[in-house]
Amino acid sequence: MAKDIKRQKTLVVGAGPVGALAALYAAQRGHDVEVYELRSDLRDPSTTPLNFTKSINLALSERGINALRNFSQPALLEKIFAETIPLAGRMIHGKNSAGQLTEQSQAYDIHGRTNFAADRGGLNKLLLDELETMPNIKFFFNHKLTGADFRKNKAWFTVSRGKLQPGEREEEIEIDFDFLIGADGAHSAVRYHLMKYTRMDYQQEYIDTLWCEFHIDAKAVQPGDDPNSRFRIDRNHLHIWPGKEFMFIAIASFDGSFTCTLFMPSAHFSQLSTTPDTLPEFFDNYFPGVTSLIPPQDLISSFTSNPHLPLISIKCSPFHFSSSAVILGDAAHAMVPFYGQGMNAGFEDVFVLFQFLDKHISSSTPFSELASSRAKALSEYSKQRTEDAHAINDLALQNYKEMRADVTSPLYLARKYLEEK
Ligand code: FAD
Repeated sequence: MAKDIKRQKTLVVGAGPVGALAALYAAQRGHDVEVYELRSDLRDPSTTPLNFTKSINLALSERGINALRNFSQPALLEKIFAETIPLAGRMIHGKNSAGQLTEQSQAYDIHGRTNFAADRGGLNKLLLDELETMPNIKFFFNHKLTGADFRKNKAWFTVSRGKLQPGEREEEIEIDFDFLIGADGAHSAVRYHLMKYTRMDYQQEYIDTLWCEFHIDAKAVQPGDDPNSRFRIDRNHLHIWPGKEFMFIAIASFDGSFTCTLFMPSAHFSQLSTTPDTLPEFFDNYFPGVTSLIPPQDLISSFTSNPHLPLISIKCSPFHFSSSAVILGDAAHAMVPFYGQGMNAGFEDVFVLFQFLDKHISSSTPFSELASSRAKALSEYSKQRTEDAHAINDLALQNYKEMRADVTSPLYLARKYLEEK
């Protein structure tokens, strides 16, 4: 009987946004949760950010908000919203036939509902802070999953304790678990090991587009000025400069600056890398108005010093093995960012997964029955979630064409006009 009141030990691998939310859901249900993260605590200012970029501004949408809301801690949602900016639609920048700069607002929703611009790092930190308040959570930073046996429910991690001396090796530890949630991103080690246990179909594709981050500085404001005047362009839009083959976007940050992203085929990145001085001219041709927001020298230095990063799209199925493991978020379905749904879909994974777990497991389920109940829940989860995850990957790929080209086509505009009538 004593065994039957034992609490299940859940390992969450990856403390990114999806892993952090999954850990919150598991802790709220009374699991003993251990979170293992490869990097150091991202709340420590010396931690290298993911992708080596300063920040990613994300569009948080209803799909993700619903999953946050269902964690049922209103205070957390309030804290998250306090650091977001409503995005009512997209603003398409261009030039008219007289060569004048144009802006065209396209609302996301005829009823005025919005998405929200959020800083990925800031959002992740709030989730980690929330986790820290829960008594049944333990963090293990600088722990990298290197192996797993999903039949014996054992996982292996190397522990990084700083620079190694010659001849020294990183310590490896073995951890037992009842349930392991892999939220370790697009290059997931959990997924890699899961493949040895289940007949996982797997497909990955690098699209021929790279991305690079730029920055529009906030305007200096004087005491007494309207604080909103620090935004150089409208803060409530996702700004798009469509360039057919390329695209430049900007999303407002809370401090009045904008985080911008250039998406472009790799050949163009290579070509411009050999002649970075031509970048301002390139921008004036394809993204009119940007050089009045970002000084040409800053454009060149961002392009030459920030990484040019790839975009991967991953589909796989199933997402689980037996009762012991499941993958969520980018680990299960990394997608190109053009639909603004990667993290939102990952949050939704957490919500859907725990709906299935709650269907089969309650606080009175004896410990001896947990594994068989969890196996049923995971099987139903994989079955339902695969089609949705694949669909959103496809939509994300399709939306690249819409954002970089179709948003300016007369046909698209006419269709949009009729829809709104
Ligand atoms: P990650 O954020 O990748 O986190 C994985 C974590 O696991 C990391 O902390 C990593 O260090 C850790 N880890 C990795 N390997 C191991 C290991 N072996 N052991 C232990 N830990 C490990 N999404 C949106 O919803 N809206 C947007 O507007 C949006 N815009 C985007 C714009 C760009 C330019 C990009 C690149 C992405 C965008 N996304 C957007 C996607 C979003 O960033 C990802 O979907 C989201 O970060 C995935 O979260 P995750 O927690 O699943 O994975």
